[in-house]
Order: sequence, then C-alpha cells, then structure tokens
Amino acid sequence: MRAPTSSRARPTAESDTALPPRTVRRIRERLLGWYRTSRRDLPWRRTRDPYRIWLSEIMLQQTRVETVIPYYQRFLAAFPTMEDLARADEQQVYKAWEGLGYYSRARNLHRCARQVVAAHAGAMPRDVAELEALPGIGRYTAGAVASIAFDVPAPIVDGNVKRVLARLVGIDAPVNDPRHAERFWSLAKALLDRAQPGDFNQGLMELGATVCTPRTPGCAQCPLQTDCFAARNDRQQDLPRKNAKKASPTIHAAAAVIVRNSKVLVVRRPAHGLLAGLWELPTVASTSAHDAQSTLRDRFPADYGLTIEPTDSIGTIKHVFTHRTLYLHVHACEKIAGRVKAEQHADHRWAGPRVLQALAFSRLGRKSLDLLARAPE
Ligand code: SF4
Repeated sequence: MRAPTSSRARPTAESDTALPPRTVRRIRERLLGWYRTSRRDLPWRRTRDPYRIWLSEIMLQQTRVETVIPYYQRFLAAFPTMEDLARADEQQVYKAWEGLGYYSRARNLHRCARQVVAAHAGAMPRDVAELEALPGIGRYTAGAVASIAFDVPAPIVDGNVKRVLARLVGIDAPVNDPRHAERFWSLAKALLDRAQPGDFNQGLMELGATVCTPRTPGCAQCPLQTDCFAARNDRQQDLPRKNAKKASPTIHAAAAVIVRNSKVLVVRRPAHGLLAGLWELPTVASTSAHDAQSTLRDRFPADYGLTIEPTDSIGTIKHVFTHRTLYLHVHACEKIAGRVKAEQHADHRWAGPRVLQALAFSRLGRKSLDLLARAPE
C-alpha cells in the first residue's frame, strides 16, 4: 500500500456519490453474500425478537461486542420481556447495567419499555417515526430495529458505516462534521437492499467492524474491493477524514471514605444529570489534587451535615467521560461528628459489604470503593 498522497494530488470522487445502478446491484449482492457466510455468530443474531434486537443495539452504542455479550445475557435473564423490564424497579435496572457505562442508556431503556407497554401494548412499533418518538431511540437505532426486526427498508449510519461508505465511494467530507451527515444517510439509503434491508445493514456494520477497520483494512478479503474508491486509489489510510477533536477539559473532585461501626457512608445521586440515580462515595468538587483535602473539610458540613478531618489521599482515579476527564481524589476521614443530611442527593446509607455489593454504582463508583481496602481502620 502506498503512503497517503498530498491533499492536492489526492484523487477524489466528491461528485461521484451517485453510483451507476449496475454498481449498486453488485455492491448489494456481494455484501449480502459475504454477510451470509462470514458474519459472526452473536446472540442477538439468533433472534428476530424486536425487544432483544433493540436491547442489543442500545448496549452496543459506544461499547465493544465482547463487553456487551455477558451483559446482554444477564440482562435478559433478569428481564426476559418488555413487560418484565417495564415492571422493574429503576435501581434493579441500574444494577443490571452496572459497569457498562453511559448510564443514561439504562434510564432511557427503562422509560422506553414503560412507554412501549403503555402506548403500544408491549409491542415495539415497526414504524421508524414511531420508534424515533420513544426515549433513547435516535435515527440510527430506529433504522436498525425497523430493518433487522421487521424488514422495513430503513437505512442506518453509524461510525462503522460512515467509514465504509467514505472509503467505498471516496467522500472527503469529515465524518464527524454534522453538516455532512445527510450525505452519508442519502448514500446508505441509495445502496440499501430493499428486499433484505436487515441483512444489508448488518452486513455494512459487520464489514466496518471486522474488515474495513480504522487502521488496517483487510482489502484483500473485502467483498467490495473491486468497486472501492479507496482501494483503487490507495486512499485507505486517509479516508475517512475527521476534524480534529477539541481537547476535553480536566476537572477534579474529592471523595470521602467515612466509616462508622464498620459501615461506609454512600449517597445516591439525584434522578437527573450525570450518573443519575447511581450510588457513590460522598463527593465535592475541587479545583486540583492540591486543594482536595481542604475542600472536603470545608464543604462537608454544609453539603453532608458532618464535620470531618480528611487524611492524606488514599488514591486518585482518572475517569474519562465523553466530554471531560475527571480526577477523583479519595480521602479517608477521621474525627467524624454530626448527623448526615445529604439533601442534594436522592438517598444515603451506611452500608456494609453485602449492601455495597447490592447497590448500583457506576464504574467510577466501584473503582473508588476498591480503594476502601487501603483506608485506615
Ligand atoms: Fe474498506 Fe478496503 Fe473494502 Fe474498501 S476494499 S471497503 S477500504 S476494506
């Protein structure tokens, strides 16, 4: 493969996104043939149950297949049907989601199940517009559920699909610039096999996930190689183009390990906002590692009703959220006095090991609990 050519010399197919009908037919046939023989055997591919397909699509957002599989199986064991999920307590749903991240997905999943039961008698609608009206279902998920579960000819576009399309057709527009999103949707719609939309969509996603990968696309194994603009012009390494991301801001917070009678104080976050409804160690915002200890001491009486004397940090956890990086400085505390009043929180509890295990914590919350072993008695 040649090194990428300079932008001035690069061949481009910007005006070539309207492919000849014969090429479109060939792409469909080859992609479908390849998908039939080469697809991975994944649990959600053994079913046409819209509930299971929807669940898998929500879990797979921003999350690797290998991570999702055990969660998917455990979740279905706990909530086998839409009705079971709708009836569940919110904390049970969070507990089943614990560790999977992006917790707004769990909240929306639960709200969506309740809405499907209330407004659609428990049956997931097949219409794309009705699907998009449900909590947590955007254009991509609506297209995926409609096409895979119901054979509705609806296109899908996600990061994998954009990469394949940008290379296949030669689109130089940055894939992460929303001003160009419609171009990818139009192309996905034009290519879609209307007789087998579910398999075609899954074929595109599968190709992006397993062959047309970001760094080392396996063009020699690709069913679309002969029609691929990037392969013909050695442009695989510089397509798709992306605008540079802005650096995410760094923030700091301080968490207190407060132990009484062998039980640790934990609080439940409010029902809305970041990590809503999940449990954590009592936490205050700080401006740096340096001021974490004094900020805990100063803010704790007003925020949690207790006076405390934080000791040196027992550890710092770095956690990357979508738009920011958090450093959480965890401190054990002594000289604890007063009564808890965590008014800005949904709940608080003095928890022993069994209760800590039963409550739903975010991954960040679990990591901070892991530091407990190192806290002074
Ligand atoms: Fe991607 Fe290569 Fe296939 Fe083109 S030929 S779609 S670059 S894997």
